[in-house]
Amino acid sequence: MTIYQNLIAGEWVGSDATKNINPSNTNEVVGLYADGSTEDTKNAIAAAKAAFPAWSRSGIWERHVILKKAGDEIMARKDELGALLAREEGKTLPEAIGETIRASQIFEFFAGEALRLAGEVVPSVRPNIGVEITRDPLGVIGIITPWNFPIAIPAWKIAPALCYGNTVVFKPAELVPGCSWAIVDILHRAGLPKGVLNLVMGKGSVVGQAMLDSPDVTGITFTGSTGTGRRVAAASIEHNRKFQLEMGGKNPMVVLDDADLTVAVEAAANSGFFSTGQRCTASSRLIVTEGIHDRFVAALTEKLNTLVVDNAMKPGTHIGPVVDEKQLKTDTDYIEIGRKEGAKLAFGGELITRETPGFYLQPTLFTEATNQMRISREEIFGPVVSVIRVKDYDDALATANDTPFGLSAGIATTSLKHATHFKRNSEAGMVMVNLPTAGVDFHVPFGGRKGSSYGPREQGKYAAEFYTSVKTAYTLA
Ligand code: NAD
Repeated sequence: MTIYQNLIAGEWVGSDATKNINPSNTNEVVGLYADGSTEDTKNAIAAAKAAFPAWSRSGIWERHVILKKAGDEIMARKDELGALLAREEGKTLPEAIGETIRASQIFEFFAGEALRLAGEVVPSVRPNIGVEITRDPLGVIGIITPWNFPIAIPAWKIAPALCYGNTVVFKPAELVPGCSWAIVDILHRAGLPKGVLNLVMGKGSVVGQAMLDSPDVTGITFTGSTGTGRRVAAASIEHNRKFQLEMGGKNPMVVLDDADLTVAVEAAANSGFFSTGQRCTASSRLIVTEGIHDRFVAALTEKLNTLVVDNAMKPGTHIGPVVDEKQLKTDTDYIEIGRKEGAKLAFGGELITRETPGFYLQPTLFTEATNQMRISREEIFGPVVSVIRVKDYDDALATANDTPFGLSAGIATTSLKHATHFKRNSEAGMVMVNLPTAGVDFHVPFGGRKGSSYGPREQGKYAAEFYTSVKTAYTLA
């Protein structure tokens, strides 16, 4: 089998490799991917550092052309890359193709942004002095990504990093190196100079840690768990380095008595269970007012009965497998915890077998949960959702905000008053009205508050806040 190697200083290198296993069919090896070392990481950082002066001064047309070419190739290969994504991560083929299209759109967006780089010229408060405000690239950006969006998250970090003139050392999640390798290959062939984009696949404790420990990495953008995020933060403070963290969630979706039941059920089923509940923006707490509670639970349960859990590549599958054995154990442990805490298992909870061996779990719904139970407070990151019954809107809002996290929050209501109040008073970074809590646009800011995020927003033109450093220059006229 071919080994997909790391890209360091423009060369494909590495002979140690790890198997990438398909969670829908554990007999299938998706590919062999290089297992980078500390030495590889140091070489990649040195290459990125050496490439920075020239790339930081490269023309905006060159950056535009490369990012556009990458976006175009990803779009042209959406079915093939989508299939690779579905095979390595386990989200369904339509979801995986959708994510691939989004990655292409992100490259298109930042290809455009490269042509719109601008500063400000303002008068000084002192006579005969001019003031210019510009944005400089940061330097070497370390990119560390999780497994749940194997192509979109790398795209939304790599595209702005390059657009604003930074060089990159990119370390994807161990479970999903395939899509990362593919987009690095595409960008390399699109004409990036040597060392501008380096790929080091491998373990977080080795490659990731070597990035955290290097004084030459000037910025780190991280998406992943809260625990690893804290390590990134501590190491970055040590090096006086800029960092950005996108971490866990325990996103609430409020359903009010006046909600359109169909809209509420569709939104809850989508945000709770699609992509196997493995989205940072998934709603895992459904906060439902008394008047609609029983009708909502009955309709949602009926909907869950129609959802097909099977091989991600199979037509008709709504929910693919859990990503790996470790995550499956976390999910089933939490199902046990929920039972012991006294929540009522209203649907699912069982492992299932399919034609191909994989990590298949029924969508699982708990009712009679309280917001104080561990299943309501801790991120599970699987298809496990609790319904919390509340008195009225005020109780619902207070419950929604009573969480250490603050990524996304939703409300299903036909009341303009409540929708408006919720948008203003939710403590989450993103608020959805009559929509799933997951599913966002690529051209507007993405990010959360409280324990979910730290630092500037990602995506859209707001990405410049992280990937550049503002400079103010004064000139005597
Ligand atoms: P994780 O923290 O285990 O891993 C994330 C990345 O960090 C991986 O590439 C991993 O190899 C690396 N890593 C691990 N140890 C490291 C170390 N010591 N030093 C440097 N890097 C290290 O997270 P995961 O399991 O891959 O992803 C799931 C988590 O990601 C969930 O908590 C989810 O909510 C979160 N997530 C958040 C967002 C968001 O935007 N808020 C989006 C997607 C996923």
